[in-house]
Amino acid sequence: MDDKCLCEPSEILVFPCSGGSNVGQIANQAGVKLTQDGMGRFFCLAGIGGHVSGMIESTKAGKVIVAIDGCPVACAKKTLEHAGFNIDEYVQVTELGIEKDHNLDLNPSNVGKAADYLISRISKRRGI
Ligand code: SF4
Repeated sequence: MDDKCLCEPSEILVFPCSGGSNVGQIANQAGVKLTQDGMGRFFCLAGIGGHVSGMIESTKAGKVIVAIDGCPVACAKKTLEHAGFNIDEYVQVTELGIEKDHNLDLNPSNVGKAADYLISRISKRRGI
């Protein structure tokens, strides 16, 4: 049974891969949008990869972990799992029909597509 109370967006930690490609940066911007829309709190994946103790403890205190990867290399997912965290909500941007390239002039509708997918998932968890 899931008895987690998700009243506060700060309890939902969002970890985009923020990679050096269109899809990595779409993941990054989707994380920004989730935070700005009150659906979570953008958090520092690099701090997890760097074993920064404060980041690890703050992540342990979170109730829901959301990972956003740009592509199937799945760097955010692997980084979190390597640190011992279970991921509650997850998407790869390429799974949404967005092809990976290295053009960083992002299409806002693709950012919206990734953000909307996760907003829908998180809303169901929060019962809103
Ligand atoms: S998941 Fe893909 S886009 Fe993201 S950092 Fe890794 S290789 Fe780059």
